[in-house]
Amino acid sequence: STSQPEFDTVIKRRKTRPVKVANVTIGGGYPVVVQSMINEDTMDIDGSVAAIRRLHEIGCEIVRVTVPSVGHAKAVGEIKQKLRQTYQDVPLVADVHHNGMKIALEVAKYVDKVRINPGLYVFEKPRPDRTEFTQAEIDEIGEKIRETLEPLVVSLRDQGKAMRIGVNHGSLAERMLFTYGDTPEGMVESAIEFLRICESLDFRNLVISMKASRVPVMIAAYRLMAKRMDELGMDYPLHLGVTEAGDGEYGRIKSTAGIATLLADGIGDTIRVSLTEAPEKEIPVCYSILQALGLRKTMVEYVACPSCGRTLFNLEEVLHKVREATKHLTGLDIAVMGCIVNGPGEMADADYGYVGKQPGFISLYRGREEIKKVPESQGVEELINLIKADGRWVDP
Ligand code: SF4
Repeated sequence: STSQPEFDTVIKRRKTRPVKVANVTIGGGYPVVVQSMINEDTMDIDGSVAAIRRLHEIGCEIVRVTVPSVGHAKAVGEIKQKLRQTYQDVPLVADVHHNGMKIALEVAKYVDKVRINPGLYVFEKPRPDRTEFTQAEIDEIGEKIRETLEPLVVSLRDQGKAMRIGVNHGSLAERMLFTYGDTPEGMVESAIEFLRICESLDFRNLVISMKASRVPVMIAAYRLMAKRMDELGMDYPLHLGVTEAGDGEYGRIKSTAGIATLLADGIGDTIRVSLTEAPEKEIPVCYSILQALGLRKTMVEYVACPSCGRTLFNLEEVLHKVREATKHLTGLDIAVMGCIVNGPGEMADADYGYVGKQPGFISLYRGREEIKKVPESQGVEELINLIKADGRWVDP
């Protein structure tokens, strides 16, 4: 027998515990969850309800809202209620940016998950003289954090809700900066400190994030967090994101570089692409990343050659036409190839192929089998007929 090295072509995801956020589960082997955040003022109830609904309708499975005051927290209660009355219950996360326990406790009544930032729980005074923290001081600060956090943890635990410990590079507490600097190690230790407090209160409905705007820092922080958790026997899911990625093509590539690299390592159970654009623009990017990695299939997968001197038709134009005609057929793989010089295998075992045959003619393939040669002018129509004949067509 021939022995070949085995390369796994399916991403093996890190084993994590399932964390329920209303009717959506993060981790536990469930599909990677897509999230985004509205940018409406939370006090604008109708505007926020409309924005949440718009995002949810195009596939945003968990929506985050910012909650900077108790007034905003109460507004979230109205938003939740209005969503239920006029649309449906959408899993909501409240971003509590301040060391404002009152805000967090209020909003915990209404949302399904609360996000806190450990870097904002600061009890130490600034130390311009840079004298080190003694162990006694660190213990005392730890105790204060615990006292502050406990009511929120107990509330979320008792309601069966979730919490995200969202560490950000660039907002670490002073004592972490002293010991570790503004490094992935500091970010990880900051999260672990909070995790231990939650665990001591028997609360494990937790998701962790380690966001940074520099991709190499973000990748290092998540990898280190996953490693540290494995060492400590912790199995919390990770929420991936690159903060301040910007806009346009580079914003998308930067987000993808960070998020996809980790997903390919098996790290990450929920993602958010942060663009300086309308939040609706983030959702297709999330789904494209997941589809490209084979983690979720939510659209047609097009395989197309880059075209070259051998190409027998206008590939860009034909690919566009084929896509417009078939993009609603979730679950199919369709190849558009300029010629068949390198064989049907190059079509990556697509379900259907549209392949240049000779000038003015194309061939249609089902898998690797050539079905028929048709004039190029009828190519798209005949492709649709073939899909229909196979019973795999649905009207758009
Ligand atoms: Fe060129 Fe044919 Fe390859 Fe397309 S499939 S790049 S047309 S050789």
